This record gives sequence, C-alpha cells and structure tokens, in this order.
Amino acid sequence: MAGTDTVVVGAGPTGLVSAVALARRGHRVALVDNDPGPADAEHWSRRGVMQFHHPHGFRPQAVDVIRAEVPEAYDALLAHGAEPIVPPDGEPGPDGLPPRGSGLRCRRMVVERELRRAAEREPGLTRVPARADAVLADHGRAAEVRLRDGHLDADLVLVATGRTASLADDLRPPGDSTDCGLAYVSRQYRLHPGAEPGPVTSFIGAVALHAGYIVIVFQHDAGTFSTLIARPSTDRRLADLRHEAAWSAAVAAIPLLAEWTDPARAAPISPVLPGGRLHNTYRGQLDDRGRVPLPGLVFLGDSVCTTNPTAGRGVSTSLMQVEHLLALLDEGGAADTEALARAQDAWCREHIRPWFLDHLATDAAQTARWAGEDVDPARPPTSDLVVSALEADPSLMRVVGPYLAMRALPDSLAAVHPRVQEIYASGWRPPVAEGPTVDELASLVGAAVPSAPAPPPAAPATARA
Ligand SMILES: Cc1cc2nc3c(=O)[nH]c(=O)nc-3n(C[C@H](O)[C@H](O)[C@H](O)COP(=O)(O)OP(=O)(O)OC[C@H]3O[C@@H](n4cnc5c(N)ncnc54)[C@H](O)[C@@H]3O)c2cc1C
Repeated sequence: MAGTDTVVVGAGPTGLVSAVALARRGHRVALVDNDPGPADAEHWSRRGVMQFHHPHGFRPQAVDVIRAEVPEAYDALLAHGAEPIVPPDGEPGPDGLPPRGSGLRCRRMVVERELRRAAEREPGLTRVPARADAVLADHGRAAEVRLRDGHLDADLVLVATGRTASLADDLRPPGDSTDCGLAYVSRQYRLHPGAEPGPVTSFIGAVALHAGYIVIVFQHDAGTFSTLIARPSTDRRLADLRHEAAWSAAVAAIPLLAEWTDPARAAPISPVLPGGRLHNTYRGQLDDRGRVPLPGLVFLGDSVCTTNPTAGRGVSTSLMQVEHLLALLDEGGAADTEALARAQDAWCREHIRPWFLDHLATDAAQTARWAGEDVDPARPPTSDLVVSALEADPSLMRVVGPYLAMRALPDSLAAVHPRVQEIYASGWRPPVAEGPTVDELASLVGAAVPSAPAPPPAAPATARA
C-alpha cells in the first residue's frame, strides 16, 4: 500500500486524521479542502461547518484514535490547557500522560487547529486549497478527483466532506435521515483568572433537563466553556434566542446558566451562536442494488453517519470509522478496493448504524414528550429513559455504564428494560430541573425581542424532559 496516491476530500477531523495517518504509512496524500484556515489563534470562521464553534465534547473513542495516529496533536492540546476526562479507575501511564480511554474537554476549534498543524508539517501530505467537484472513474474504478481548477490522480479517494456536503452524491442513495427535533443556541465564555467553575454535575460539565428543553454546560480548554440551550426545533417562539437580549434574559432565568455566566465569574468570548438543522443520518458505501458503486472510493465520518449532537458521539463515530479503515489497509486492503468498501460498509452497519438507530428512537420519544406525551411503561423504554432511570435505581449502572461510554451497543440495554419499565410503571418520572418551562422561556424571549411573534397558547400538558 506504500506509494498509493490517496486523495482525501474534506479536512475536518475525519479527513485530517486519515490524511496524516496514511501519509505516515507511506501513501502520497493530497488533502483537499476549500476552507482558508484559521485567521489567527482565536479566530477561524470555518464557513460550511455550522457546528464548528458550537460546544463539542470529545469521547475516549475519538481521543484514542488521535493519540494513536497524531500523538503530537494530543500533546499540544494538553499543553494548551485541554482537560483530560480520566475514567474513575484510570491511572496515568508510565509517560505521565492520562490513561487511554480518557476523553477531552476542549473547544473544537482548538482540536482542529492542532490536527491541521500536524497535517501541514507532514512530509508526504500536500494540502490542496480547493473545492472538489467530482470523483471520476477510469476502467470502473476511482481514478481522479476533479477540482474547480484542475484535477488530482488517485488510486484511493476518501470522501470526508461532512454532514451536508454532496460530493459523489450520485453514487449512492440518499440514505435514511430524520430531524433530531431540536436546535442549538450556544455561546462561549471564559472564566476570569482565578475564578472557580460553576456547578459541575457531569463529566462534560453540567446538564439540566428542563420541561421541554435541555441545558448543557461544556467545559473546554484553558478556562473556556460553552453554554447550550437545546430547544424544540419546531417551536418558532424560541428561534429569537439567537438575539443577544433574548439570550441574556434566558440565561439569567435558568439557574444553572445564571451561575456559570455570572459576570463576576466569566465573560463571553463569542457572540450568541444559532445552529442549523440537526438530523440523524446514515448512508452506507453501497448503491441501491447493494453494489460497490466505485471501487477505490470510500466515504468516511459524517458523510456516513450523523447523530443528535447532545450525546456528543459524532467525532467518535467518525474516527472509529477511520481507525477501522486504517486497520483494513494495514492488512493489505488497498489491493482489492471493492472488498475494502464492502468490508468497511459491513463494519459500519454493525458498529456505527446502531447508534443512528438508537437516536431515531430516542429523538422521536423526546419530541413526543416535549409535546406533552407521558412515558408509556408498557412499551420498551428508549435509551434516554433507561439512562434517566439511573437516578431511581443506581444499580442499573452495571449495564447502563458501558452503553454510556459507548463500550456496549444500544441493544445491551434490553437486559434492564423490565426493571426500567417497573420503575416508570410505579409512576416515577425523571426530575425536571428548576427554572422556566418552555412556555415561560418563550414568554421571556418574546418580551426581550419585541418583534418576536406572540407565543401561542400554552401546550395542554407540561412536557417532561
Ligand atoms: C451542533 C453540533 C454539535 C456537535 N457536538 C459534538 C460533540 O460534542 N462531540 C462530538 O463528538 N461530535 C459532535 N458533533 C459532530 C461533529 O461535529 C462531527 O461528527 C464532525 O464534524 C465530523 O467531522 P468530519 O470531518 O466528518 O466532517 P466536517 O467536520 O463537517 O468536515 C468536512 C470538511 O469537508 C470540507 N468539504 C466539504 N465538501 C467539500 C468539497 N466538495 N471540496 C472540498 N472540501 C469540502 C468542508 O469544508 C469541511 O472542512 C456535533 C455536531 C453538531 C452539528
């Protein structure tokens, strides 16, 4: 496989890690992306990647691939002030570094900047600042990537163009896709020197399930953190949260956010950031007749699977795909590119698609609950209900823990369904955090932004988070 001409399209986390890893295995790599790169250490607009400045948490699955393939980027992140999330039983390694299996609290921009630096320094890797328009075939296999001005020859083409991009779309069916039912509004802050963080209730920072919406604080690197309100996407009353005045009113009224963003503790370092449409999507490698459409072409990362970002799985499911593809190539997979695509597809169906299916079920159930529906204990519980039930019966952690850590697939939760159904049948429901209901939040927004349409009458029943 050394000497292979590989074109990687897309220099997000998936493309950057793939490109560096393949260059280190002897491929001649061209990494194509139309993004101009960071303006300076703190500014990178990254048009085309809507989520770039929204909060990200990095699970161990993602971090371990970065550590294995681009270790200097990990070292640079720690030096920059990224915080490892060490598992409770984890001991530092002999090198003094956090144990494998640790997550990372860090802004996405900072992670991507270090990966990009590593790519820029990598001999055998050429960055091509261009937009790729098409993948072209010769003798029935991928042979060329066409750019706006010119082309690149290829033995292997990796398409890592993200969640909305359309490169090579004609080669595979649209895939399964549903709306997550929620929309992001977030903002980044930095703690004042010496200031203590606000209340920490989870490994990521803090989570509060409100009546009809979710609030999360993500701790990042070097005293930075993001506050997030994930609201029902269909509730237009809350779209005005993107305005500074509405955001400030909401943050002041939600106790967790009020504490974290107290001006005595922290100051904003970004504008209020609205989010675009969020969807759960899965698209395999094969065409609608189950054939490999173009041997030598492999789709990777978000171009295969995207899931509801509140669970923070996207970079992990992306880099797990990269890790698997690298293992196939290490075993000589480049010699039979048709078998390579089939093997990658089969693995993704077994190990990635279950997370997509899990989100389909949990997001539909959450949307129904946000609309006022109660939990039906007669039906097998969705995974989010199983996780919430930990609060009623902590012994469930034995089964739920490996699922939460993505060490066990969602169907592992079936083992505790009877117990969880018993809990909900007893009338127990997940506690709702102190703070405004979704209707009260909408009223606050309407009052803060006078142009906002008047809220419709309150929903018939208060939704449970
Ligand atoms: C709001 C939100 C929050 C998220 N939070 C988390 C989180 O907490 N934790 C987590 O693990 N994941 C999270 N995710 C998911 C995560 O952001 C994605 O999984 C990740 O960006 C996937 O990386 P990628 O490299 O596959 O795609 P991208 O990051 O989208 O990169 C694709 C790249 O391809 C380039 N490109 C596209 N088309 C072309 C073309 N034709 N020619 C040249 N270049 C092209 C783009 O410029 C871009 O650089 C979140 C997602 C969203 C939407």
